[in-house]
Amino acid sequence: MTVSEQLFERSRKVIPGGVNSPVRAFNSVGGTPAFMAEAQGPYLTDADGRNYVDLVMSWGPGLIGHKHAQVVEAVHAAVEHGLSFGASTESETRLAELVVDRINAVVPNTIDQVRMVSTGTEATMTSIRLARGYTGRDKIIKFAGCYHGHVDALLSEAGSGVATLSMPGSAGVTAATAAETIVLPYNDLDAVRAAFEKFPDQIAAVITESAPCNMGVVTPEPGFNAGLRKLTHEHGALMIFDEVLTGFRVSPAGYWGYTAADEGNWAPDIFCFGKVIGGGMPIAALAGKREIMEYLAPTGPVYQAGTLSGNPISMAAGIATLIAADASVYETIDARSAELQGAIREVFDAKGLNYSIQTAGNLFSVAFGTADGGVKNYEDVKNSETFRYAPFFHSMLDSGVYLPPSAFEAWFLSSAHTEDVMQRIIDALPEAADAAASARP
Ligand SMILES: *Cc1c(COP(=O)(O)O)cnc(C)c1O
Repeated sequence: MTVSEQLFERSRKVIPGGVNSPVRAFNSVGGTPAFMAEAQGPYLTDADGRNYVDLVMSWGPGLIGHKHAQVVEAVHAAVEHGLSFGASTESETRLAELVVDRINAVVPNTIDQVRMVSTGTEATMTSIRLARGYTGRDKIIKFAGCYHGHVDALLSEAGSGVATLSMPGSAGVTAATAAETIVLPYNDLDAVRAAFEKFPDQIAAVITESAPCNMGVVTPEPGFNAGLRKLTHEHGALMIFDEVLTGFRVSPAGYWGYTAADEGNWAPDIFCFGKVIGGGMPIAALAGKREIMEYLAPTGPVYQAGTLSGNPISMAAGIATLIAADASVYETIDARSAELQGAIREVFDAKGLNYSIQTAGNLFSVAFGTADGGVKNYEDVKNSETFRYAPFFHSMLDSGVYLPPSAFEAWFLSSAHTEDVMQRIIDALPEAADAAASARP
């Protein structure tokens, strides 16, 4: 028995499924999840001492590599002053300023204020409560295959672990809550228009991933996000842009910053951030214009709070990460992403595999069996040849490359993935491609 197997046996006794977040279980790929002992730069080392090139990067936060020296130093310095105060600290303002500056550098005056929370789930949960409070309306539109955390109202046809486990939603969500959520196919503006016509003056907000990355990556069609902005304006609803995964990762100002100039510089009413903003510590945030954000308590009637919100150690990690993530970081990740996609195409084409690669800036994923139609929405993803992913994943893992243990997730690179690290990934591809090619449903 490996150490990971022993640890999994122990954890399964005292933790449901042995994991504290379902995507960590290897349910859809099979096998025992590796328990990790160390993360450094682009590498993970498991409890058995095996070293992997990491393409998950803590599901996104590791933008500049694990345990980055500047981040670790900032955290150590913050620890010296105390772990938590239950009162305000300057670091919260500093991180909020960095977020405001990054967004407003693309289009001035896009956001004024930021509220810090601890998880992406809290950010999206608060954003829909805020939208409901602000508009006085109840219904929410979300898209099938988009994941916005485990918020009751947002679990219907959700992506990520819900999709990985082939669940339609979640038990325990009341019928009344589910009834307030309108689930529509992604990339379909006509469906959004029809919903607004069917429920006039009842829809508080449209929430969407800026680019879906939790059903694998699905690229928004040109004009889709701008179209959502137009429709929400026309019908008096708010637009919530969930950049928890893409924010500060695909550009200094997220996917919005990556596409804003091409799409007429429109802006959503509320941004949700998470993952990279904390550099590996638990932080998330929502942000928007003062008029909307001050609807939150204590200035406004929408209540939201958190004992550990704005925790000074987390703030220190977030600030150090955003400061370290300069233009060269994004250039490096973009280049590495293009390089890896190129290598995949070369190997997969040589092996005659049927696939397509979907991108959202430097994020991407591979969908088997989609060469003809591509992938526009959750239906397309579900109809893809996901059975090829498990053997592909395990072959890569055996070669020391740690991919997301699900076909429904994006691949994450970092600026710590240097040329020799990339070569290790590229060298592992031919055997994994063979494994995918010979897979049977
Ligand atoms: C990860 C994620 C969330 C949830 O964030 P947690 O910190 O896991 O609660 C919400 N939205 C998107 C797009 C995400 O990728």
